[in-house]
Amino acid sequence: MIIAIDGPSGAGKSTLGKMLAKKLGLLYLDTGAMYRAVALAATSSGTAFEDQSAVAKIAEMAKIELLGEPDDLHVLLNGDDVSAEIRSFEIAQAASVVSTNSDVRKTMVRHQREIGNAAPNGCVLEGRDIGSIVFPDADIKFFLTAKPEARARRRYEEDKAKGRVTTYEQTLSEINERDQRDVSRADSPLTIAEDAVVIDTSELDLTEVFDAMLAKISDRRVSASVNRN
Ligand code: C5P
Repeated sequence: MIIAIDGPSGAGKSTLGKMLAKKLGLLYLDTGAMYRAVALAATSSGTAFEDQSAVAKIAEMAKIELLGEPDDLHVLLNGDDVSAEIRSFEIAQAASVVSTNSDVRKTMVRHQREIGNAAPNGCVLEGRDIGSIVFPDADIKFFLTAKPEARARRRYEEDKAKGRVTTYEQTLSEINERDQRDVSRADSPLTIAEDAVVIDTSELDLTEVFDAMLAKISDRRVSASVNRN
């Protein structure tokens, strides 16, 4: 089973994706972490993001591995554990820039399909283009969204808990900047797939969203088995 979760930053995709993967015994794939790893590789090598072909080559050559259980995921770049490093504000912004590079996207999409297809029980993939591009035939597609203020508030609380020195206003402006880039890029912009289940999480708590997603998955499984019989 392939479950696609798309949506803007801070809508709850990662938390809910991990919860679903655990509950259903599926692999969890954080595709944003892959773009972050490419951004880190480009930054560390001193490559200018404007040098599209050099960045594409870095993406092609990089060995990106996502290991471990959903709650304890490790991102390895060429064998080094970069799980913490890729979560910085600078890398988040850099990832949003390198992800506009079509050749980088092609390489990432290819890896994501390979990983998803090889997962023995299936996979929950979380990102911006999963239902539209990576797995257009996913068994179920979710689009999680929330008002920018709600998303910024959550992200701000998470960052504060991690010890990052920031303000709510700064977080809101970072989120708006990344969202703007994601919806306006030419290749695979953030869009709601036609057949996606859209959930606005602004006013809902985690358990309510989780239960709503599980109910949709179970409906989909029932109708799939009815159609088979
Ligand atoms: O999800 P996360 O914030 O970690 O993603 C980092 C950046 O990678 C996003 O801002 C987005 O620009 C890009 N991204 C993407 N397509 C995906 C996942 C992430 O373009 N499938």
